[in-house]
Amino acid sequence: MPNFVDVIIPIPLQKLFTYSISSAEADFLQVGVRVAVPFGKSKIYTGIVYRIHTEAPTAYEAKEIHQILDGSPIVNTKQLQLWQWIANYYMCTLGDIMRAALPSAFILESETLISKNNQKTIDESMLKDDEFLIYEALHHQSSLKIHDVSNILNKKNVLPVIKALIEKEAIKVEEEVYEKYIPKLVRYVRLHSKYNSDEALQGLLEDLGRAHKQKEVVLSLFSLAAKTKKPVKVSDLSSAIDASSSIIKTLIDKEIFEVYHIQTDRVTYSGEQTEASKQLNTHQNTAYNEIVESFKTQNVTLLHGVTSSGKTEIYVKLIEDALSKKQQVLYLLPEIALTTQLVNRLQSYFGERVAVFHSKYSTHERVEVWNNVLSNSKKAQIVLGARSSIFMPFDNLGLIIVDEEHEQSFKQFDPAPRYQARDTAVVLANLHKAKVLLGSATPSLESYYNAKQNKYGLVELFQRFNNVLMPDIELVDVQDKRKKKLMKGHFSDRLIEEMSEALSEGYQVILFQNRRGFSPIIECNTCGNSPQCPNCDVSLTFHQYRNQLRCHYCGYNTTMVKNCMACGSPELDSKGFGTQQIEEEVKILFPDYKVARMDLDTTRGKYGYQKIITALEQQEIDILVGTQMLTKGLDFRNIKLVGIMNADSMLNFPDFRAHERSFQLMQQVSGRAGRTKERGKVLIQTYNPHHKILQQVSTNNYAEMFKEQMDERFNFKYPPVYKQIKITLKHKDFNKVETASIWFAKSLRQVFKNNVLGPEAPPVARIRNQFHKNILIKIPKQQSLQKTKEAIIKINNSFQSIKDFRSVRVILNVDNF
Ligand code: ADP
Ligand code: ZN
Ligand code: ZN
Repeated sequence: MPNFVDVIIPIPLQKLFTYSISSAEADFLQVGVRVAVPFGKSKIYTGIVYRIHTEAPTAYEAKEIHQILDGSPIVNTKQLQLWQWIANYYMCTLGDIMRAALPSAFILESETLISKNNQKTIDESMLKDDEFLIYEALHHQSSLKIHDVSNILNKKNVLPVIKALIEKEAIKVEEEVYEKYIPKLVRYVRLHSKYNSDEALQGLLEDLGRAHKQKEVVLSLFSLAAKTKKPVKVSDLSSAIDASSSIIKTLIDKEIFEVYHIQTDRVTYSGEQTEASKQLNTHQNTAYNEIVESFKTQNVTLLHGVTSSGKTEIYVKLIEDALSKKQQVLYLLPEIALTTQLVNRLQSYFGERVAVFHSKYSTHERVEVWNNVLSNSKKAQIVLGARSSIFMPFDNLGLIIVDEEHEQSFKQFDPAPRYQARDTAVVLANLHKAKVLLGSATPSLESYYNAKQNKYGLVELFQRFNNVLMPDIELVDVQDKRKKKLMKGHFSDRLIEEMSEALSEGYQVILFQNRRGFSPIIECNTCGNSPQCPNCDVSLTFHQYRNQLRCHYCGYNTTMVKNCMACGSPELDSKGFGTQQIEEEVKILFPDYKVARMDLDTTRGKYGYQKIITALEQQEIDILVGTQMLTKGLDFRNIKLVGIMNADSMLNFPDFRAHERSFQLMQQVSGRAGRTKERGKVLIQTYNPHHKILQQVSTNNYAEMFKEQMDERFNFKYPPVYKQIKITLKHKDFNKVETASIWFAKSLRQVFKNNVLGPEAPPVARIRNQFHKNILIKIPKQQSLQKTKEAIIKINNSFQSIKDFRSVRVILNVDNF
């Protein structure tokens, strides 16, 4: 009997391709094994065996596979079940998912570029003849395509050779590689070298005779150094002397002390766990018990715990429970770049059992984590990662934690698969009979609604750890302040007062400026023209730091113009204010304090985030100005004041979730204040202090926010009350997109009637020279989601069969929020 396999290849095909295999291959092959297969005229792809069977395809004659690449599956059946669910639910192909799920080193194909791995010295005698030839060739050429490899070896089937070279770490697959290694620079202090001799030191102490405080600090440094026999950290010194760090700063400025940095190396991590987990306090303990109880009847439980209530320590206990049952744990985070803090915390509890998975890590690191999870190795019992870590080859998952579950970045918008990792995690957990804990201080309406409907368990924790009070939130009416001439630039008198007070007491300050709607753009004072992106329908934004105009959609950039491009006038002004401008203003208002900025510009470099976070932790920064990045669960000890520069831009953003998001964002930034002993203070500057969301933020009233927002969602048929699917059409010809989208919407209306909105041009209607049109389909709860999708697919298929429309790209986005 002839034998066949259905193979997933990493390109978006509606159906799986079937290939023929010999009966020997059929005996050997297993589902989840990689095979090299020919496709199209001359391409070769790596595919994953999805099904082994004996039914010949009817529409075409099956080609033979080239080669089997693995002895055992690299993707397990639970993963394939998850892929199938994602493909159905998010209306994408298994090929899309394969590309997103596997480290790229697993997906060799004719386009793959390989190069020598310079990080590793290879014993060439270990290489087989074919392998050696390729390795040798890479000494002369920096990279080779698979096609070149074929030519060198004079054979078609080269993927096994390449695979072997990757396994021997002799070569790597070309890609953008971020290094996992993140050095942490810690600031140390010592006596300046000019006081090394006894006389010089004697002289110094005499000179300082009058300055008691300073002398005390110098002596403390001596006694600390003598006691620990180790270099003294600036932070240790300042906590030892119970004096503000300004005295240390003075001593540094006077060159009595000098500062130096030592890199704490995180890569040569010893693998030892260094700490026992913390003893939970009574509130945490109650919450923990409630979660355990809730898991008896619910698969998913939401932990709504205010900022700094100690949610992480509760997660740690739950992780310990899962590990003791020999189960794997997945810890999902919205953004891995910001969470070195957490990685360290978990590694100190769990040692090398914590593995971090990041889509931007290098090939080898990703393959290593993958293989460790696949083999259920001790080294990867806990996987910590951003959304793509739901694709790891778990075999025995017991618990998934979704931290900061409300964060938008769990949803992938582009490219397909456009999945929501939090929601997919619930499905993944079901496949493993595992439990899911969603955690947030500001839960998404969806999750809280699910909890209220008893679909999820709900546990709430309203006390901060140490019983620190929630920050005191004050609203400042900017309009009123302007009238009374009490604004200096973008700073109200109240904000300046509170900043002065906090800083003089030695505390740190965070100033938050929303990223949206605040990019500075250039406007001509004479004719009103603003420079536009040539490829997109947006104004270019001005980046002072590089003296550039940039497009945030396509990356287009040009040097700042001197004259208006329309009328030639030199009178150009910048409108809108970004973090840069605030930074400038702060420097003028508070010249004696150290100011830093955290936004896309300043964190772009290699260790950008880490440097700023470390500097803040080490109290080298007094005032940090930043965007959204500040909000994501960072735990700082010395922040007393948070200023929100302008609340209105968030509130007025044209999106049905703008109010929910504003509430979350403001509560999260506020949560950075006063996390240890002293109650924190938050000032929110706004033109609209009576806005109900601001009232709810200032009174910490999540429940009321939830109720009011849900009423609106009911009235306007928005999620979570209705489901929605967005269809986007794109083409470089405006008229074609216009006609195509009208056709599409009309066909949809025949089925879904009034629940179709659009076509509508989005706020930025042209991006990268492509015109966009959106159509929105609202789906009532009682309407079958499956049938709805089937109808959309049918309409899409008819659409594709119209010759004129074939070149229009159609993007389906399920749960597009
Ligand atoms: P959340 O995630 O709820 O914002 P964290 O888990 O970051 O809060 O806790 C806030 C701070 O309190 C952290 O610095 C943490 O180490 C500390 N903390 C929380 N629970 C305990 C505990 N039981 N014992 C000691 N310290 C704790
Ligand atoms: Zn002009
Ligand atoms: Zn552009």
